[in-house]
Amino acid sequence: MSEQSVLRHPEEFEVMIDPERIAERVREMGHELSRDYAGKDLVVVGVLKGSMLFMSDLVRHIALPLTCDFLRVSSYEGGLRSTGVVRFDFDLTQPVRDKHVLVVEDIIDTGLTMSFLLETLRLRGPASVRVATLLDKPEGRRTEVQIDYVGFTIPNRFVIGYGLDLEGRYRNLPYVAAMRTSARES
Ligand code: 5GP
Repeated sequence: MSEQSVLRHPEEFEVMIDPERIAERVREMGHELSRDYAGKDLVVVGVLKGSMLFMSDLVRHIALPLTCDFLRVSSYEGGLRSTGVVRFDFDLTQPVRDKHVLVVEDIIDTGLTMSFLLETLRLRGPASVRVATLLDKPEGRRTEVQIDYVGFTIPNRFVIGYGLDLEGRYRNLPYVAAMRTSARES
């Protein structure tokens, strides 16, 4: 592969979590989930678009006959701050009654998106609903939400890469990069 074909983050960002650390942690999470859900009817629900890389890596480490599904909600209008407005864009393709649902997110910040989702999913009578997130920014929380599996707890900085975007771009970076504190102030 030529040097030129390698995507780089914008210069106001710096690498926060490299691909090796991500891979190791995702593998650990997969093993934990394989143990916790053994013998259960598991539906892994990816929240698009941000969870796409995390979800595809994670399910490869869950050694169970699970099913995958996706839904999409919007809470950010392509910018850096939560609007607090959560909208359902599209829904699951299967009923989840009596099934064990694992919601897979890229990042939990205010918690508004996840609490909306959990409320909605619980009305459908699943056997259980749990949450796995790659990243958690607890300092940004505006509502209490239980997160069962966390990849990395990070400070309250805007991040991109490994599924996370900046105005639609950079989801395909193989690592997580954070906005430099100096860039945020300027
Ligand atoms: P919450 O509702 O918890 O504030 O935010 C959840 C959603 O906001 C995430 O799924 C993600 O799309 C977006 N988000 C929150 N923090 C960040 C961030 O640091 N970077 C990016 N790219 N998106 C974020």
